[in-house]
Amino acid sequence: MIRAYKFLMRPTVGQAQALSEMLRDHCSLYNGALQERRDAYRHVSKTSIKYGMQSAQLKEIRAFDPERQGRWPFSSQQATLRRLDKAFAGFFRRVKSGETPGYPRFRGVNWFDTVDFPKDGDGCRWDATPHDPTTRVRFQGVGHVKVNRHRPVVGKVKTVSVKREGKRWYVVLTAEQAEPEPLPVTGSVVGIDMGIANFLADSNGGFVPNPRHGRRAAAKLEAAQQALSRCKRRSNRRRKAVRKVADLHRRVRRQRLDHAHKTALDLVRQHDFIAHEDLRIRSMLKAPVPKPDPGRPGVFLPNGAAAKAGLNKSINDAGWGVFLTILAGKAESAGREVIAVDPRNTSRTCPPCGHIAPENRPTQDTFHCVACGHTAHADTVGATNVLRAGLVRRNARQG
Ligand SMILES: [Zn+2]
Repeated sequence: MIRAYKFLMRPTVGQAQALSEMLRDHCSLYNGALQERRDAYRHVSKTSIKYGMQSAQLKEIRAFDPERQGRWPFSSQQATLRRLDKAFAGFFRRVKSGETPGYPRFRGVNWFDTVDFPKDGDGCRWDATPHDPTTRVRFQGVGHVKVNRHRPVVGKVKTVSVKREGKRWYVVLTAEQAEPEPLPVTGSVVGIDMGIANFLADSNGGFVPNPRHGRRAAAKLEAAQQALSRCKRRSNRRRKAVRKVADLHRRVRRQRLDHAHKTALDLVRQHDFIAHEDLRIRSMLKAPVPKPDPGRPGVFLPNGAAAKAGLNKSINDAGWGVFLTILAGKAESAGREVIAVDPRNTSRTCPPCGHIAPENRPTQDTFHCVACGHTAHADTVGATNVLRAGLVRRNARQG
């Protein structure tokens, strides 16, 4: 399995200059090679020039222009020539199929934004300073460039690319990850209901609490943000406060991610099939509806929007969207099935008798069926209904 990563680089002024020169020189190599192909094609002999012929000239080109072409790695120049070759292959393919494509074009230096290094360790080195807490990538002719590595790179790095976007510089990696083995079949199915008091409830009556330190960290973060807003601009105290806020943000984010990974892994290990609520439908259901004031046309009464906003904050805090993405990824590599279901009525339908009524839920936590008297935790009932809806959808799909 090949995975791509894109990280912001933080080159020094000198390194940024060198990176620009690297793009400039690869651009001129590209255009020169294009010119050669053009001239040959226009010649009466209609000679077509192949990648191999152009790549064979590289040695000479580098020796002839050591300040510019000779400065960059051979392999990145080959990659640029290969890109041109690809453009031509596409052009001829389209001509052959009867289309009238445009002839491959010269690139302006501002339109040439990428240099590829086909192999880590050849003209470039990812994580060139592994013992330093700051990650760096080394490029021949540029030096060790600092990288904002915001997530870990898993597996062996295969290719490295430099990419310019506006004024920013990025490093793009592809890494090869070992294919995970599908997990053994357990014969178990589960529905989950994502809540506020608990992170989630499952249809077997289990609960996963919210991340333990999440609330406290959030309170600390809020305090740090307030302290920051009181600092004078450009002061030492402000610099410190900024760092503190950033650190706390990182800590909260990491805790939530850890929690989401752990919860998703537990579910995927134990069950073959997992049904959850469709968050998009759910957020539409939760959006507060404006209440018109009957006495004054065009005026709206307060409708609890503020209370709902608080609720939404907690929802975001819990990070269900992130969790479901992680769950989907783990399920896919483990060979498990995940289905999203319409959450309408999942909280007010009685599982044993099927009676649907808002009165079935007298409080936030309790479910008490007014028809048959069935009593349970409201979130367990929700999860049970989610599972049922998921199984119905699965059967419909298979039938
Ligand atoms: Zn009932």
